[in-house]
Amino acid sequence: MIDGWGESAQEKLKNSKVFIGGIGGLGSPVAMNLTLAGVGHIILCDLDIVEESNLNRQFLHKEKNIGIKKTRSALTTLAAVNSEVDFKTISQKITTENVNEIIGDADIIMDCLDNFSGRFALNQYAVEKNIPMVHGAVWGMEGRVSFLNPPLTPCLTCLFPESPPLENVPMFGGVTTATGSLQAIEAIQYLIGSRPALANRILIADYSCMRFQELKVSRNDACPICGHLR
Ligand SMILES: [Zn+2]
Repeated sequence: MIDGWGESAQEKLKNSKVFIGGIGGLGSPVAMNLTLAGVGHIILCDLDIVEESNLNRQFLHKEKNIGIKKTRSALTTLAAVNSEVDFKTISQKITTENVNEIIGDADIIMDCLDNFSGRFALNQYAVEKNIPMVHGAVWGMEGRVSFLNPPLTPCLTCLFPESPPLENVPMFGGVTTATGSLQAIEAIQYLIGSRPALANRILIADYSCMRFQELKVSRNDACPICGHLR
């Protein structure tokens, strides 16, 4: 009954393949929302094992799953919600060497990672294969989301030419769940054929004061990754 949805949109979701890089704070709500919505093929990729410190936000994982692979833990939870989804799990670190094999012909890439080496590998593949990527990030009480698909929009390297320093990021479940849900909505909208709302914009949610702002962003013509696209 939602405008633009209906049977044909549901059919499109069923025939869609989504790659989710990172099954943690952002990946949990992204994977759950896509599973609930009926996306037919979901690739879950994460190298890590479940740790106790994950459990304040990564709701796909349970106390009893501490010590096992996040992909396995996530699969158990998600498959119990929607048995019609075809899940594939990959317990590997995402690198420029393996992206071709692990992402393949996915229709959209969800960037739910916590490190820029993986994010840049996803970005490079996304640009090369013209696959849209929904970027998500959190820090404390702030979340950010953007839809990236050059030459329509900037790529991740246009926005972040270099990797920010690695640091421990404080976060809790409300912030990651809200931000990941925004990523999932953006992906679903794209998959059913709606115009991506966050193309050329970064949505910045400051949950401490409940303000949602946006930054307009544009391409860097000299970008080493997407600058050659016209
Ligand atoms: Zn670029």
